[in-house]
Amino acid sequence: MRTFVALELPDTMRAEIVDLARCLAGRVTGRFVPGENYHLTLAFLGEIGEAESRDAIAAMDEVAAGRGPVRLHPTGLGTFGKPSDCTLWLGVEPVPELVVLAEELRAALADRGIAFDGKPFRPHITLARRVRLPKGELAPLAFPEPAHATRMTLFKSTLTPEGAIYKPLYRAELGGAEN
Ligand code: ATP
Ligand code: MG
Repeated sequence: MRTFVALELPDTMRAEIVDLARCLAGRVTGRFVPGENYHLTLAFLGEIGEAESRDAIAAMDEVAAGRGPVRLHPTGLGTFGKPSDCTLWLGVEPVPELVVLAEELRAALADRGIAFDGKPFRPHITLARRVRLPKGELAPLAFPEPAHATRMTLFKSTLTPEGAIYKPLYRAELGGAEN
């Protein structure tokens, strides 16, 4: 199965991003991600089996233990790819608690021999794919308020012609020391 580990977004932030995406959808063409699919990827594992998923869960638990919620501070829009056909995302400030979480997760996966995409961590929430950007600036937009992520989740991703379907396989709470 195709898998990745990501932070889930708090409901308020998710709703605010839905509003932002609605504004954007009036200005650019593209395949917009449904609000329930918003997430911040920490590590993309790709194809793994049952045994590896158990090890990935152990790695998540190890890293989540004693860790508090992670601050998500939106910084602005960005793109991957060429302006005529790009992925449009909302960038998130790489604060130490977020960067360290991603690094510790990746190290814990590596310790268990689980491979993942090793590209540098660039925290972002994908809003739309196959986007064609208009020339010039996008008009001013209301950005979501900072919020805290409290869940690190292992997702199964099923690719379909209509877009990916994500299914949570395991959730590790970032609840702090009391967990
Ligand atoms: P689609 O590929 O059909 O557009 P998707 O990108 O939402 O759908 P996946 O490709 O399964 O679905 O990706 C799941 C998550 O992992 C997304 O956040 C995606 O950006 C990220 N991701 C996918 N491939 C990689 C990769 N090679 N390295 C890092 N992150 C990746
Ligand atoms: Mg993809």
